[in-house]
Amino acid sequence: MGSNSTIKRRLSPHTLPGFLLTVWLLVSLSTSQAVAVTVPEADAEPQREGLVLPALGISETFGRWTDVIRLGYNPTGAIPAFANTQQFLTILSDAANIWERVSGVRFEILPAGNYPADHNNAQSSRDGIVNVFWASSAGSFAAQAGPRAGSYNEAEGYFPYTDGFVWLNSSCTSATCVSGMTSVLVHELGHLLGLGHSDTPDSIMFANPYTFLRNPRKDDIRAVQTLYGGPTTAFDAGKPLDEWLFVKPPLASTTKTQFLFKDNQNSRVNSDAMLVFSSQQQFDEALPPITASTPDDVWIRIFAPLGNFNNQIDIEIPAQVVVVDPSGYEYRRDNWQLSCRARNACFATFNFLQTSVAKFIPGRWQVYVVENAEQVASPELLLSLSFDVLTTPAFNNPPMANVDIVAGETPGTVRMRIIASDLERHRLSAVWHLPGQRLDRDGDRFLDNELTEVLGTSNVGNWQTINFGGSGAKRLFVQVNDNGPRYGGQFGGLSDAGGGFQTLLRIDLQLDNNVPGAVTLASSAVHQYRPSADWPYPFPGVTPAAAINSPFNTIGELTEANMTIQSCVRILNAGQPATVDGLSHIDLGFVITDMAQGIIQIVKSRGFNQSATPTAQGEQPVCSGEFEASTGMYKDVIQVGAQTFETLFQLIDEPNLRLMLRDAKVLGQ
Ligand SMILES: [Zn+2]
Repeated sequence: MGSNSTIKRRLSPHTLPGFLLTVWLLVSLSTSQAVAVTVPEADAEPQREGLVLPALGISETFGRWTDVIRLGYNPTGAIPAFANTQQFLTILSDAANIWERVSGVRFEILPAGNYPADHNNAQSSRDGIVNVFWASSAGSFAAQAGPRAGSYNEAEGYFPYTDGFVWLNSSCTSATCVSGMTSVLVHELGHLLGLGHSDTPDSIMFANPYTFLRNPRKDDIRAVQTLYGGPTTAFDAGKPLDEWLFVKPPLASTTKTQFLFKDNQNSRVNSDAMLVFSSQQQFDEALPPITASTPDDVWIRIFAPLGNFNNQIDIEIPAQVVVVDPSGYEYRRDNWQLSCRARNACFATFNFLQTSVAKFIPGRWQVYVVENAEQVASPELLLSLSFDVLTTPAFNNPPMANVDIVAGETPGTVRMRIIASDLERHRLSAVWHLPGQRLDRDGDRFLDNELTEVLGTSNVGNWQTINFGGSGAKRLFVQVNDNGPRYGGQFGGLSDAGGGFQTLLRIDLQLDNNVPGAVTLASSAVHQYRPSADWPYPFPGVTPAAAINSPFNTIGELTEANMTIQSCVRILNAGQPATVDGLSHIDLGFVITDMAQGIIQIVKSRGFNQSATPTAQGEQPVCSGEFEASTGMYKDVIQVGAQTFETLFQLIDEPNLRLMLRDAKVLGQ
């Protein structure tokens, strides 16, 4: 009730019946603005040589590996923690296995050796062995990696990768580059495979900030599967992989933990072990849930009382801290020696996660202290704690995309068009990587390595005729990008690790002359929704402008270009929730059939948001439309260009579903 009265106070006192819809449209037409669209450059030759730092991962020029990837580790210059070459090779192999487990990609780890440099070398000196090497850099990075593209391959329609490098920074000796090396290598191998920095925080390729997750997440997995196909053992990419879940060791006996993590006589200690912020001075207040307003620059730490005046023997336990992320995967594991002399009351602390990073990984985190398996025969669990992160990280969602495919007019050809959708309603572009003889389709006198198409406001692309030059199994990659904010990069203009695709489609089809048979579509974006030409979005409507202070997070939208209105409504009967055809909430599409009379007609409808897609802000959509069945009155809040109106329509022609505008008021003025 409070929300509604807020709206009413903001209504203009002047209401104009009759020609108001015309006025409404004129206002909006005069205030509409052109939308700037940025798209990757077509035709530009890929920058493969001469950069101080080469492009990381996916560059604007699309490519992929077409064969097994051979990794050659050169131990020269390794940091002391990896003086044992075999130990490093085990970690490298683990990281490679992680990608192999979730995709069709294959690595071969060669014996350690003095492999020639691949970093910044000329195309002619590439040997097809990815050099994994150490070199010192004053830069703040732990490692860098990237593939090196060969010549454009017309049969494939892209630049196959022929070599690459993984550069480990020998100036980095912190925990990040030692206990965190598995995470670093999984991330860097992701770059080597062609993945750029993801805008999605729940991703091992996220870098704003680096989160040091150890295992690929659904977005990473979908992207690598789009590039390289599925693994030999299929699994559900949306769920944690059972074999990667951390398994707790058995709980230690109370005798063993009698003087561990218990309140003791130390003046700083007022409780058993707990999680605290590093900024806390007193250790008697447990960690509150991490929220958006938690300060960024604070460590989350274990506060651990050890020993007791009554303890008669020295405590000296080789332990490890194991932090388990909300998916149940090990996030980090570090050695922690627990020490306190007999008849002493000590405490120790261990910092394990910065709040600035935790905020990007919401859910329940577990923190365990276990005996170190390398030094204790049957390690046991000494301490178990947990904390919650209650945030909804905001990020630019990748577009959703689908493809329509029909027979071409001549043998070996098909026609395809992209239908895309974006939660933020950004303008979209499709970049086609077309196999076959290159053409100058855009008329710029260069043969096109790719074809960039800016999609119209309907997000339905143009039909493209694709000449595969024959029958059989065919494959095509198309990337779909929005013009929203992308990963900014840590090395300024020297890195375009976020410059590649946002959403990648792989279209596999069987072509019989010009008739497409079975079509398989793989997509790197994980949204459930499959856009269609009629319904380009999971649910209609737009986010209201902040200035109108709407109680709804989704309001109707009038599109001038085709004189349509899209909205979603809830059904009422005499003020009570009701249903039509069993649906309580309905997506509606109208056309404006008579602008002067203010008459609109329902031309399409369906159940509301069947894919249960959240808004771009991660909330459940709450729609502004309301249809009162007993009176035929349809009330809604509708955005028209830069203005927002509260409107009231009445059903005047039930068989033809036509309604007439009865009232409209500008909101927020
Ligand atoms: Zn990176």
